[in-house]
Amino acid sequence: MLIAGNWKMYKGPDETREFCARLRARLHGLDGVDVIVCPPFPSLHDAVGMLATTELAVFAQNAHWAKEGPYTGEVSPWMLKEMGVGGALIAHSERRSLFGETDESAALRIEGALDAGLHVIACVGETEHERDAGETETVVHRQVEAISTVVEEENLERLAIAYEPVWAIGTGRTASPEQAEDVHELIKSRLRVPVLYGGSVKPENAEELLSQPNVDGALIGGASLDVESFAAICEAASRS
Ligand code: PEP
Repeated sequence: MLIAGNWKMYKGPDETREFCARLRARLHGLDGVDVIVCPPFPSLHDAVGMLATTELAVFAQNAHWAKEGPYTGEVSPWMLKEMGVGGALIAHSERRSLFGETDESAALRIEGALDAGLHVIACVGETEHERDAGETETVVHRQVEAISTVVEEENLERLAIAYEPVWAIGTGRTASPEQAEDVHELIKSRLRVPVLYGGSVKPENAEELLSQPNVDGALIGGASLDVESFAAICEAASRS
C-alpha cells in the first residue's frame, strides 16, 4: 500500500518541520505501507532534512521536463533529485484545470522526471460533466495512453497512477468503492503499475476504499494536512 499526502499550497518551512517531527514519531514502526508527503517547493528542503533518517519519502507537486534552461519559474527534476526529493506528482487536476496542463505537457514532465531518476505519481480523472456524459472510460483511457507513450519498460517500477475523479477532489464526495474499482481495473489493463485513489479520502472512508482489489493506495489532499487524520489513513492502509 502507498499513501501520499498532497499538501497543495499549504505549510511553509516552519510548519513543515513541526509537522514532519510529529508525523515521524506518530508513524514510527508502522509496517505494510509506504508513506509520501508532497510539500510545496519552498518547504521541500526542510521536509527532506526532517525525514532523512526515516522510511518516509518526500515528493514535489510538479516538475519541468528539462534538466536546465530558460524556463523562468519552472523547477528542474534533476535539481529536485539533487536535493534529495524522491519523486513528483504530475498533472494533478488543479494543474490541468487552472494552469493549462495538457496530456502532452504531462507526458513531457513524466518523461523528464523519470529520466532524472525520480519516481512519479501521474494523476488522471474525469470531470463531473464527463462522468455524467458517460465519458469516464474514454477520458481516463486517453489520459493513460498519453502517459504510456513516454514510459519505458525499465522505468515502470518508478511510476504510479492516481485516479482522482475531479468531482471528488476537495468536495467531500468520494467515488464509491465500485466506481473506483472499475476505473482502476481499466487503468491496470493498460499499465502494470500501482493505482492510487484520490478524492476526499478520510479516516472514516479509507478502509473501505483501500480494501478493493485494484486499489493500491491513496492520494490524500485535505486530510493529509492534519497529522492525526493522515496517520489514521496510513494505519488503515497498513491493515488493508
Ligand atoms: C488531491 O488534492 O489530490 C485530493 C485528493 O484532495 P482531497 O483529498 O482534499 O479531495
